[in-house]
Amino acid sequence: MTAAPTRVPLVDYLVLGDEPHLVAHECTACGARFFDRRNACASCSGTEFTTVPLATDGAVRAFTIVSFAAPGVPVPYVAALVDCGGTSVRANLVDVEPDADHVALGMPVRLTTFPIGTDEAGTEAVGFGFAPA
Ligand SMILES: [Zn+2]
Repeated sequence: MTAAPTRVPLVDYLVLGDEPHLVAHECTACGARFFDRRNACASCSGTEFTTVPLATDGAVRAFTIVSFAAPGVPVPYVAALVDCGGTSVRANLVDVEPDADHVALGMPVRLTTFPIGTDEAGTEAVGFGFAPA
């Protein structure tokens, strides 16, 4: 049997499909949200988490233009903190000129996904960013 080429998200908290979105682990005790897997909540030490989908629309809360990066990483690019319905997401902005004339605090953005690369088996890695909405 030949497996169809598959797409895998670059990070665990990116869910692909017809409507790609991010998910967070939410502490059932205090509502704090985390993207990585936790054994205990950093805010209240609770140990029960539920998975919640995040809004795909957000607003830029902070950003920086990155001019220097590791070899092979194209620069400049925009690293941002995006507020998605009250949850802060660290991500790069895409489809925008990476300068302060084109990026502004409060700018509405929307989640977007893009292929990062494909391995020998045809599995495509998919990353995410936010583009101007
Ligand atoms: Zn908590």
